[in-house]
Amino acid sequence: MSKVSILTAGKVHPRVIERLQPHFDLIRLDRPDPALVTPEIAGKVRGATGFNGMPADLMAALPHLEIVANFGVGYDGVNVAHAAANNIMVTNTPDVLNAEVADTTLGLLINTIRLLPRAETWLREGSWEKDGAFMLSPLSLRGRSVGIYGLGRIGLEIAQRVAAFNLPVSYHTRSERKDVSYRYYPSLEALAEAVDTLICIVPKTPETHKTINADILKRLGPNGVLINVGRGWTVDEEALADALENKVIAAAGLDVFQDEPHVPARLIALDNACLLPHVASASVPTRNAMADLTAENLISWFEKGRPVTPVPETPFRG
Ligand code: NDP
Repeated sequence: MSKVSILTAGKVHPRVIERLQPHFDLIRLDRPDPALVTPEIAGKVRGATGFNGMPADLMAALPHLEIVANFGVGYDGVNVAHAAANNIMVTNTPDVLNAEVADTTLGLLINTIRLLPRAETWLREGSWEKDGAFMLSPLSLRGRSVGIYGLGRIGLEIAQRVAAFNLPVSYHTRSERKDVSYRYYPSLEALAEAVDTLICIVPKTPETHKTINADILKRLGPNGVLINVGRGWTVDEEALADALENKVIAAAGLDVFQDEPHVPARLIALDNACLLPHVASASVPTRNAMADLTAENLISWFEKGRPVTPVPETPFRG
């Protein structure tokens, strides 16, 4: 029997290829572009995966497509509405990265507040010997009150870490969680008013677009710190640059940006912004675990008839 054909579109983690190779006939596209789909490819592809998402026009060019296995827990790059309407299963990689992303978030929070990357640069550039001790950080983690915008799988692990630092935690989500004792705020405005440190870990959806705006930043106040590890989409970057330049808030730590890999020059110019190139889950062990789960979804679908981790918009109905 001939093997099922799987399309890998754009960048793919090498371990996904390695895991899929024994099971499937792999067809590689340089980018997720329907113009690259030949009639032969269209006639046989039944599954797809990739790092760069899956637009509706590419799915539409593959009439036998049954499943898209997204590499990553955030699947905003996959047109899930098109998939759901066309009976295409979409899977993602939840849970296996929770701890890594939460660890990185705390690292980014501390780096933002205690200026550790700048202190290291001071040492490496010889300034410690030449000019003496690095400046005292104007801010401290001590005494802060932390609000988490999004208390899902990752947000909850961030909350546990923040609590272990002996800081009070509160949160905002659309529905209050019954399984936690952290203080709930039914609006982002109320949460921002109540805390001085806001950590954003919500998905990219139409409802979360630029919800961290000038008003929310003003509510955090002059001691305010914003950390974003969710998606750049959620922060109004112009408003954030204004707030940082004018000291409406004290500092921001960002792992994600609106138009990656482009980072606005205004943010790069700021001393009170700590900037990372979307690395929250980017360790070899965690990316390997994500690669394994991506591959297992495709293998399970074609060999056992069910996905491992379907997204809520395309539930498995047996
Ligand atoms: P979950 O789905 O488990 O959690 C999402 C949380 O956001 C829930 O608490 C949900 O609560 C809340 N939420 C969703 N929409 C809204 C809204 N409109 N208003 C308020 N709260 C909202 O996702 P994960 O924790 O697994 O991942 C979260 C996101 O983190 C991913 O979608 C991804 O974009 C990002 N991410 C970034 C990484 C990085 O490298 N920087 C790595 C991994 C993930 P409720 O439904 O009750 O509103």
